[in-house]
Amino acid sequence: MDQFPNQDNLQQKPERGFRLGWIYIIIIISLILLAIPGSYFTAKEINWQEFEKYILNRHAVEKIDIVNNEIAEIYIKKEFANDVFFKDVLQPKIGKALNPGPHYIFNIGSIETFERKMEEAEKSFSENEKIDVTYVKRTNIFYEILPLIIPIILVVLMFRLFAQNVGAGRIGGSSVFNFGRSTAMLYEKENKSTITFNDVAGLEEAKQEIKEIVDFLMDPKTYTKLGAKIPKGVIIVGPPGTGKTLLAKAVAGEAQVPFFSLSGSEFVEMFVGVGASRVRDLFKNAKEKAPSIIFIDEIDAVGRSRGKNAFFTGANDERESTLNQLLAEMDGFGTNSGVIVLAATNRADMLDPALLRPGRFDRHIYLELPNFNDRREIFKVHLKPLTVENTVDADFLAAQTPGFSGADIANICNEAALIAARRKKEKVEKQDFIDAMERIVAGAEKKSKIISPDEKKIIAYHEAGHAVVSWLLKDVDPLVKVSIVPRGKSLGAAWYLPEEHQLRNTAQFTDMLCAALGGRASEEIIFGDVTSGALDDLEKVTKQAYTMVAFYGFNKKIGNISYYNSNGLNETGFQKPYSEETGRIIDDEVRILVEKTYQQAKDLLLKNKDALKTLAELLLQKEVVLKEDLEKILGKRSEVAITK
Ligand code: ATP
Repeated sequence: MDQFPNQDNLQQKPERGFRLGWIYIIIIISLILLAIPGSYFTAKEINWQEFEKYILNRHAVEKIDIVNNEIAEIYIKKEFANDVFFKDVLQPKIGKALNPGPHYIFNIGSIETFERKMEEAEKSFSENEKIDVTYVKRTNIFYEILPLIIPIILVVLMFRLFAQNVGAGRIGGSSVFNFGRSTAMLYEKENKSTITFNDVAGLEEAKQEIKEIVDFLMDPKTYTKLGAKIPKGVIIVGPPGTGKTLLAKAVAGEAQVPFFSLSGSEFVEMFVGVGASRVRDLFKNAKEKAPSIIFIDEIDAVGRSRGKNAFFTGANDERESTLNQLLAEMDGFGTNSGVIVLAATNRADMLDPALLRPGRFDRHIYLELPNFNDRREIFKVHLKPLTVENTVDADFLAAQTPGFSGADIANICNEAALIAARRKKEKVEKQDFIDAMERIVAGAEKKSKIISPDEKKIIAYHEAGHAVVSWLLKDVDPLVKVSIVPRGKSLGAAWYLPEEHQLRNTAQFTDMLCAALGGRASEEIIFGDVTSGALDDLEKVTKQAYTMVAFYGFNKKIGNISYYNSNGLNETGFQKPYSEETGRIIDDEVRILVEKTYQQAKDLLLKNKDALKTLAELLLQKEVVLKEDLEKILGKRSEVAITK
């Protein structure tokens, strides 16, 4: 049914607006009128030549007033009232009194020029014909009262703004007078989140734990009667896109209690004290509505370790006082006061340890990148709204996407639908999904990129180098295809299907390094020189080699020592937690490792130089070479691959 506006409002509101509006308009017009000199309306503007020729030389001038050394106001003698030339200015309306003047005005430039010109023009005038010139000073009221009026207008405007906000009475808001109040969104029965636990695929353990928390709130007695304390806070930690926010939204949808949701960055303002005051306000509101849930997304924005980088950022005072307030509030409300704080972050290592200790965020839920089964379930959720062909099945898609997050999967489904729509298909097909995956991983194809034939050859040999080395090493992820079609920033790529490992041994790490160096090794073997095309590979190799030596304890000289710091805190107070000597050993060992694996890649390629050439030529011809072609050139991988 159509909603009709309240008749009372219809009558009252416009009338008040109308009256106030008119007052403003009248004030503004009056000010403008005051600013304009009176002569502007009555006098006609002329120039010196016209004045001299038609007025002065005809002896029609009664007097001249020079106003503020700037404007000359000319008064015409009354006896010229019937003169054709002056009729218009002296008798603007028939039958009315004569216009008292001024009748003409012009800008004199400067007093000296004006006086000189007058003297010249009056040379032939007799003494009593000479014109009476008076110099007058007139002040403009507008400029006088302006400095008084502006502050009054500002005060009135501020007062009105204030009055409006007091009337609005909402939680927080972005107005100037509300900046100390919490900006959290409140979901209650009427505007509940529509997301439920069914929309969250996989993540069974996390869902279970979260459901338990909701149960605590709904039915606390079951737990408290046995003496148990209800947790105060739950922190959800996991890589980006793993469904942390989604899980919280599902809690908001399922819990029958008020749900306050905000992002950590909303506490942080440039004014000191605002964040702390927002935290206070948030907890006050939540306690008033208890049992309730507070959800703080991206809590690292406020919860970052105190004192960390304080010297460099300078903005830490505000963040620290906000965090202190948060800690105090979480400690402050009694365990059973019925407010549970949910928080999410992908930087748990940055968080202040005080925040994570029991009594504050008691429960930690870790989300990981989804495994095969989770991915299949997530695909099912996101395939539901699409019109897909029968050949598309969640199992196939899940198998193709190891290492992808839930957000990536949602993105693939959407991208595939967009690609299918662009191709004017009735249904989304398997190929659309494959193209969507490639687009998401490596960017859109850039066929128009201009690449010279020489460069194309180098790219083909570079990619063929990666392909041959990885094909021949058992511990590298299986190769799917090699392409020299430019995509995103890359000029070519070797595509692998990552296997899901929880652990990797030294051999696997070295094989991966070797495959990554295969491109550069191939360039050196074939062309006797190397190019800048290996930048990405070298970056990856260097980082991996350092982790192997300094973090995983894979190096004999360094031994079983790890300089990895899982909480990101510099507890030792040193810039680097090892001596210069150890630093030098790490650098040397990394260089030795990379050099050794590079040599291995070169040896493999030299042994299989013919296969390398055949593959590179095939790539130049077809641009994309699949696994099947590699099998023909190098033989079945299971039969030829070795472990280094
Ligand atoms: P960030 O740390 O970057 O904020 P996040 O972990 O909070 O990421 P979400 O915002 O929850 O990630 O997830 C983004 C999107 O990914 C969701 O809107 C949803 O479409 C999809 N998604 C992620 N995980 C799942 C899942 N388990 N089931 C269904 N969809 C998922």
